[in-house]
Amino acid sequence: MAINNNKIVIVGAGLAGLFTALKLAPLKVILITSKNLGSGTSSQWAQAGIAAAVGKFDSVSSHLNDTVQVGGGIVDQKIAELVIKNGPDRVNDLISLGVPFDVDENQELILRKEAAHEHNRIVSVRGDMTGKKIMEVLTGLVEKSPHIEIIEGQNAVELHQENDAVYGVTIQNSVKETYIKSGCIILATGGIGQLYRVTTNSKEALGDGVGMAARCGAVLSDMEFVQFHPTAFDIGIDPAPLATEALRGEGAKIINSKYQNFMKDAHPEGELAPRDIVARAIFTEQKKGEQVYLDCRGDLGSRMIDDFPTVYELCKKNKINPKNDPIPISPAAHYHMGGIKSDKCGRTNISGLYACGENACTGIHGANRLASNSLLEAIAFADIISSDIKDQINKYVRREVHHPKIVKVKSLDQNDLLALRETMTKYVGVERDQVGLEKAFDTIRDIYLKYQEQGYDNNSLITSLLIIKSAMNRTEQRGSHYRTDHPYQDNKLNSRSSITKEDLNL
Ligand SMILES: Cc1cc2nc3c(=O)[nH]c(=O)nc-3n(C[C@H](O)[C@H](O)[C@H](O)COP(=O)(O)OP(=O)(O)OC[C@H]3O[C@@H](n4cnc5c(N)ncnc54)[C@H](O)[C@@H]3O)c2cc1C
Repeated sequence: MAINNNKIVIVGAGLAGLFTALKLAPLKVILITSKNLGSGTSSQWAQAGIAAAVGKFDSVSSHLNDTVQVGGGIVDQKIAELVIKNGPDRVNDLISLGVPFDVDENQELILRKEAAHEHNRIVSVRGDMTGKKIMEVLTGLVEKSPHIEIIEGQNAVELHQENDAVYGVTIQNSVKETYIKSGCIILATGGIGQLYRVTTNSKEALGDGVGMAARCGAVLSDMEFVQFHPTAFDIGIDPAPLATEALRGEGAKIINSKYQNFMKDAHPEGELAPRDIVARAIFTEQKKGEQVYLDCRGDLGSRMIDDFPTVYELCKKNKINPKNDPIPISPAAHYHMGGIKSDKCGRTNISGLYACGENACTGIHGANRLASNSLLEAIAFADIISSDIKDQINKYVRREVHHPKIVKVKSLDQNDLLALRETMTKYVGVERDQVGLEKAFDTIRDIYLKYQEQGYDNNSLITSLLIIKSAMNRTEQRGSHYRTDHPYQDNKLNSRSSITKEDLNL
């Protein structure tokens, strides 16, 4: 089946996809999502909130400085400044759309503190329900918007391009395949967490957008940088629920089975050290056979029901009383700093193809993301991209008729997915080395070649191979990327990385 039109296509209906779709009005948009609208996103689970320099004593330069400090020396400062400057206006946009951010008795925004932020600058809704509430509001508006056509329950699997300009996308479900013609496509498919065995990301976070873009000739950037959240619930649930960082901001401690607070020795900032340092400290304890816990006992545990209702409900459901019991935790794949390389307008190297949200790599995060900067990046670039498209739209109206070659793309069989996730966690996780990375590459390439022999392609496998290859190339420790065989930062590698599918030599 084919849909021939000149609407703008957005793939993905998380915060990036929904906010871009709304901002594009009155231009006509087709919004495609693999699940039903309002589900299958990481956005709906975001707990802490959005970082924005809106406080009286805060400033763009302070927020920028914190972003750069955490980013391992390779943050694109111009992009970071652009996004951070955008923050206050985009938060106001969300307020005017009806997002009920927490305010005090004077109707001033309540600003919370998170790790590695100099100031209190996180806006949130009911403490830890930020993502859920934002998504409820935006989903409602999208459903009512006449300029947006919604296609639910279909996976985008293939982009089509000619002469480095995109002209369409193929989507599929278990019964049909549809080709949609469009000269302007925005990828907003979210993260890659499900490529790992332990992750906080939704089941849909399989790196489809990155894989599709790579297969269509897009350049990827900083693929080796995967952030592991240090404090996911370690209670055997997939995806692993998150014990928000804000708990540590409020005084929660990290302890081992002997009730030792080992973070004191790991970093001067203890529990509020950057995420990679906390994750590695926990991983080191785990390697010794220790179970690690988040200790909220006492006052914080008592007020959890009001201040952190999501975490409280999770504890209750799993028979943990946070007033008396420490919460079992583990690091989990949480956020991908890398992705489809995009510029200050959100454009990729393929004309008409944009990337927004977590599947984009704009350079704001460098080698490590500052907490709550990802929702900020999504809303800032939704605005930037929609303005750019409005300026460029005549260029993207394509009149040619193409007969795209339909490549068969198959999702992974259950066993192959398990093998992939196991391999990525074991060899491409919190710590990496050359021997492990080579093993991972060989294992995943073999799975890929098996699919190729059967006449199929697969986006998740390509994304995984690009992460591994980039991790091999970066023979140093930087930000979230920790090579045990090269445990020092190498100044010669002080720049962002780029890779294409061709570099995989498959
Ligand atoms: C538990 C958790 C808590 C977090 N807390 C915070 C926080 O407090 N602050 C912060 O800044 N960041 C936080 N993050 C990170 C942040 O939530 C994400 O980076 C952000 O929400 C990503 O938004 P997105 O729109 O790019 O992707 P998502 O919200 O993940 O949406 C992706 C969309 O793409 C769809 N999709 C995927 N593949 C396909 C395909 N092939 N075809 C069609 N559709 C597809 C999915 O179904 C979904 O609709 C958190 C992340 C998690 C997991």
